[in-house]
Amino acid sequence: MIKIQLSELIVVVMMIGVCLVCALWIWTLWRERRREVYRRRIAIQCRICNCTYAIAKKTPAVTQCPACGTQNQRGALDPI
Ligand SMILES: [Zn+2]
Repeated sequence: MIKIQLSELIVVVMMIGVCLVCALWIWTLWRERRREVYRRRIAIQCRICNCTYAIAKKTPAVTQCPACGTQNQRGALDPI
C-alpha cells in the first residue's frame, strides 16, 4: 500500500482536476474550430444583400441567393 500524506493527496487531486479542466478546454476549442470550418464550407454570404445561407456539399459552385436572387460563388467567405 502506498503511504501518502493528506496534503499530498489534496495536491494530487487538484492536479488531476486542473488537467481535466485543461483537457476539456482544449477539446472544446478543437470542436468549435471544426464546427466553424464546416459552417464556412457549407455557408455562402450574398455579396449584395449580405444574407448568409447554407447549401449542400454537392451543389454547383455558383448558387442563387434565396433573398435577392443574386448569383453567388462558393468559397467566398474568408476564414477568420
Ligand atoms: Zn442576396
